[in-house]
Amino acid sequence: MSLTQDIKDYALDIGYHQVGITSADSFTDHLEEVRSRGAIYDFYVQDPRQFLMGAQPLETMPSARSIISLVWDYSQKAFPSSLLEKVGRIYQARCYDAPPDRINGARYQLLLNFLEKRGCEIGRGIFVPERRAAARAGVATFGKNSFAYAKKIGSFVLLNSIVIDQELEYDPPAYNSRCPIECTACMKACPTGAIYEPLKLDPRRCLAFNAWWTQDGRPGVTSYIPFLIREKMGTRVHGCDICQEVCPNNSARLKARFPSDPFLVQLAKEFTLPKMLEMSDSFYRRTVLPIMYNYLTDKKYLQRNAAIALGNTRNPDHLPVLKRAMKNPEELVRGYAAWALGRIGSGKARAVLESCSKRETSEFVLSEIKAALEN
Ligand code: SF4
Ligand code: SF4
Repeated sequence: MSLTQDIKDYALDIGYHQVGITSADSFTDHLEEVRSRGAIYDFYVQDPRQFLMGAQPLETMPSARSIISLVWDYSQKAFPSSLLEKVGRIYQARCYDAPPDRINGARYQLLLNFLEKRGCEIGRGIFVPERRAAARAGVATFGKNSFAYAKKIGSFVLLNSIVIDQELEYDPPAYNSRCPIECTACMKACPTGAIYEPLKLDPRRCLAFNAWWTQDGRPGVTSYIPFLIREKMGTRVHGCDICQEVCPNNSARLKARFPSDPFLVQLAKEFTLPKMLEMSDSFYRRTVLPIMYNYLTDKKYLQRNAAIALGNTRNPDHLPVLKRAMKNPEELVRGYAAWALGRIGSGKARAVLESCSKRETSEFVLSEIKAALEN
């Protein structure tokens, strides 16, 4: 049996749903596209993981010959509706960038071990553009929403790519989109207009991006979330699936009945926005980390998102928890709690803001209080 077939068989055996192989040649189309988008992609170009180098595997690993592109379908479970209001499916599925001691990270690790045993050198730390690699390896196409769509599955898929030094048998690419020409459902449904043209998405306007990429210290971004984005986040604290939920190419998966995931059922009972805003260390470890492993390592960003979500409920029952948040030691949390109080907008919320403004010393929080009172 050829090494190509051996690798594909093993990957399917350990649970991947599709496997394709492409060459390790540069993704020149990706490089051109990213560079053409200028400041919109500063965060990506400046990231210390050097994503643009990942689009040129041979620059980092001269022995690179093949890229194995793997698809894992994460849609095959019943996601609790109360969690879907707050957390995107890919995070609930605990598969994106999963560490090796979690089941989805362990699967990836198993494949790495297998490849090494078969004498392959692996290009570790090369961040290949996964969607481009999947298209070139024939396992996915692009939707107008920029998501990758795997054949007979849809876009609720995790993609992994592994660069190796062995020359394998390459699969034919699958560049053609399966979008009906007239369909623009994803573009119309996006609450912020982030998909400004087919296949062109402005991450700075995307709710998913704002919920977790906006952290201080990351190049090209800060922790600040603009007012318009905050309002559109609704109760989402991590991720956004809107442009995938409206897609006809996902409707079969969305209508299908899948078994519940006992872990998510339990999590859904515990995962509330007030608890998230007043997050204890144990809540963070037990309820948040399992679905958000390594995205938001500082609790304050999740608390920021929880404050926004609570404000967007416009439910005055949340006044007490937001009032307590105005005493949080983190100015980030106090600032967004002030915005949330303004969003709820009752006389009582106003009284809390006025009282807090007398003792507040942070310029950021004071500016948020002022804006909240003016609104
Ligand atoms: S993930 Fe949400 S905010 Fe981002 S492009 Fe899709 S619909 Fe718009
Ligand atoms: S909603 Fe329509 S245009 Fe958007 S990705 Fe799906 S099929 Fe394509």
